[in-house]
Amino acid sequence: MLTKAKWLEFLDTMDDMYPDAHCELVHDNPFELTIATLLSAQCTDVLVNKVTKDLFQKYKTPQDYLNVSLEELQNDIRSIGLYRNKAKNIQLLCERILAEYDGEIPASREELVTLPGVGRKTANVVLSVAFDVPAMAVDTHVERVTKRLGLCRWKDNVLEVEETIMKKTPIERWSRAHHQIIFFGRYHCKAQNPGCEKCPLLADCREGQKRLKKGLVKV
Ligand code: SF4
Repeated sequence: MLTKAKWLEFLDTMDDMYPDAHCELVHDNPFELTIATLLSAQCTDVLVNKVTKDLFQKYKTPQDYLNVSLEELQNDIRSIGLYRNKAKNIQLLCERILAEYDGEIPASREELVTLPGVGRKTANVVLSVAFDVPAMAVDTHVERVTKRLGLCRWKDNVLEVEETIMKKTPIERWSRAHHQIIFFGRYHCKAQNPGCEKCPLLADCREGQKRLKKGLVKV
């Protein structure tokens, strides 16, 4: 397993590579971020932003989402995967926050994960980005990068990955590190064809070294 010191070195490198890493889901408030994150499940941020550009013009409040039929909302997000279920969850979520939270998104994980369509990852994104509460949201990029680098075990589930990262990363770096690991995974250590040849972490990366031995990486 990777030592904490080596992991912090890796984070420093990602910090150098992506000093401006940030949440790429366009939003203006916690409510819009919650909707955008819910829509982003198994879907790219680029596509979500394309859809929310018009969506957030048409629907500004939770009540707006309830003033239309389910079919109309489904139609407005139909280019997004799982749109039928997502539209249903958005309307249920709007009903809940109107009934229980005065139309506002609650700022605690315990409450967030009880909202329709909001899992632990979405809750962590909303906490960290909208409310500045330290949290580590594990998406596909975070999971892949931390496993390739050897911080986490291949067999670890998402919760174990989250706990390991939080244990090995100082709390004041969680938010910044979270976005930098995502950028590193999204733009450099991609699922297909990771950029091992030009990777500053190659010498210490277990996946990179494996690829090197197999002749998949030419340096
Ligand atoms: Fe990813 Fe390759 Fe770099 Fe390892 S060496 S972090 S697999 S790009």
